[in-house]
Amino acid sequence: MTPVIPLRPAEGCGDAPVLRERGQREVFCGLTGIIWLHRKIQDAFFLVVGSRTCAHLVQSAAGVMIFAEPRFATAIIDERDLAGLADANTELDRVVTRLLERRPDIKLLFLVGSCPSEVIKLDLSRAAARLSQRFNPGVRVLNYSGSGIETTFTQGEDACLASLVPVLPEAAEPQLLVVGALADVVEDQFARTFEALGIPARFFPPRQANAMPPVGPGTRMLLAQPFLADTARALESRGATRLPAPFPLGVEGTMAWLAAACDAFGVPRARLDEVTRPARERANAALARQRVHLEGKRIFFFPDSQLEIPLARFLSRELGMQLLEVATPYLHRQHLAEELALLPAGTALAEGQHVENQLDRCRAAQPDLVVCGLGLANPLEAEGMTTKWAIELVFTPIQGLDQASDLAELFTRPLNRRLRLAA
Ligand code: SF4
Repeated sequence: MTPVIPLRPAEGCGDAPVLRERGQREVFCGLTGIIWLHRKIQDAFFLVVGSRTCAHLVQSAAGVMIFAEPRFATAIIDERDLAGLADANTELDRVVTRLLERRPDIKLLFLVGSCPSEVIKLDLSRAAARLSQRFNPGVRVLNYSGSGIETTFTQGEDACLASLVPVLPEAAEPQLLVVGALADVVEDQFARTFEALGIPARFFPPRQANAMPPVGPGTRMLLAQPFLADTARALESRGATRLPAPFPLGVEGTMAWLAAACDAFGVPRARLDEVTRPARERANAALARQRVHLEGKRIFFFPDSQLEIPLARFLSRELGMQLLEVATPYLHRQHLAEELALLPAGTALAEGQHVENQLDRCRAAQPDLVVCGLGLANPLEAEGMTTKWAIELVFTPIQGLDQASDLAELFTRPLNRRLRLAA
């Protein structure tokens, strides 16, 4: 039987030097987050204020999803002869009014900013305040930026959630707040676990706009995603306290994450052990089968989703993979302190991107598996490397004990496919 919290304080990378790179980046912008956020908050609508490029990106990232009533759209404001900002504001108001008249199911509307200079000149926060007042009380209008100048793709979620924090109600009671969009199936599993543990837990973002969780000085928050720096800061300014923990990826990460909540709410570890035993045993057995394929394999991470460090920790400690380089767009030392402490000593860490330099290092290292964005995957595959698209890791339910094996499988699949191709 596995011990409940097998947190071996490994040699760790807590103070390890990090290669900081600044140069050309190959990462999606924050608009991409709309794809999973619109599925999560079911009565929200995301109106991108942007260009045809933005419309194209959101449509193609949404891929094969076909909706009778989509919950995102783009108000295209470039490529037109704007007489002035007043015209753009009038135009935006007209688009929003038409949308809300046609779609009474929308309760929360996000105006999502983007890169074009016409958009940057628009004050979307004033537009949101003006429109919120006009459609009060039926619809709340908020704004955030998904611009590629300011955000990489998971930062879109951070910006979106941070924009919601000021409208959360005040919490009267102590509670646990799980922060970060999780697939509904994962959220349901965690909700059942917290209920069995007797911990009053709420999830942010909620599935419905009128079910916003409260926040206050009695709120203890557990981050479910490692890319929520602004959201965490905003929640802290409302009195919430972050519980330091690794992220709930793999058995070890999930158990430590749950243990942080248990400690904060006075739940004995023995109770956690009891509640999670069946799922833990299933996960460990499934991971042992995956380990056969992954042990000793060498992996290289390009910076993309900000999930890289927790993933690297899971792959090295639970599946025996060798970490050649772990790069992340931003390294939040405080939020990732528990993760860094668990990485093997001497792991090569990088923050930011200089894509050419990194490609050189990757080619020199000849890894068995490369985790990277879509833009790099095809050229690297053409060079004979095996790649895993980072974006899939954000779209797939991967957190928690029941998903640990699915997460490992996301890495075994490309390796096995390459083996079959070579056979
Ligand atoms: Fe639109 Fe900028 Fe994203 Fe391109 S990078 S899709 S212009 S927000």
